[in-house]
Amino acid sequence: MRQNLILLGPPGAGKGTQAKMLVDKYAIPQISTGDILREAVKSGTPLGIEANSHMSRGALVPDEVVIGIVKERLKRGDCGKGYILDGFPRTIAQADALFSYLNECGCPITEVIDIKVPKDHLVIRLSGRRVCRSCGAGYHIEFNPSKDGGRCDRCGGELFQRDDDREDVVIKRFETYEAQTTPLSEYYKKKGQLTTISGIGDVEAIFDDICKIVDER
Ligand SMILES: [Zn+2]
Repeated sequence: MRQNLILLGPPGAGKGTQAKMLVDKYAIPQISTGDILREAVKSGTPLGIEANSHMSRGALVPDEVVIGIVKERLKRGDCGKGYILDGFPRTIAQADALFSYLNECGCPITEVIDIKVPKDHLVIRLSGRRVCRSCGAGYHIEFNPSKDGGRCDRCGGELFQRDDDREDVVIKRFETYEAQTTPLSEYYKKKGQLTTISGIGDVEAIFDDICKIVDER
């Protein structure tokens, strides 16, 4: 049984963790657009060279180039039992192109899983994170505080907040994500392929929810 999955979820929803667990359980690769773009650029494929000409001047890589690179990746042998797409499609044009391509191959997307975490919850989850400047150990002011608050338990290093975790940045990223993804989740909902699950709670419990959906399809 092939599992051609798409994972949706805002930054901080735990999508990366769930994807890794799915990779192990179903023995399918996680295909992240960022990774395969970088890889295509590095190996100097014609599409990689074209992608780089946009990336190097800070421009977005056009849909047709991204789609071409994703198609090349999906042809590899390790996708024989399926794959998890992460960060693709990002636009309706990409979703349409993917749909036509997979239909031609006779192996459509089997499930789109949307991991939902409300904005307020994400703000608490992300803006409370602290990292040790010396050893990189991670803490959370509420869920996993260090003993003295400002110093690392392991090495005594100073704890700081990453720029990405600042409340205003978290809110901005969430809103950007929502604006970009809402049309996509509507698109897959209309096709009857979308299942929404809550990303709040125990990682294992969330994973069980996802596996049930995948196995029942
Ligand atoms: Zn430390």
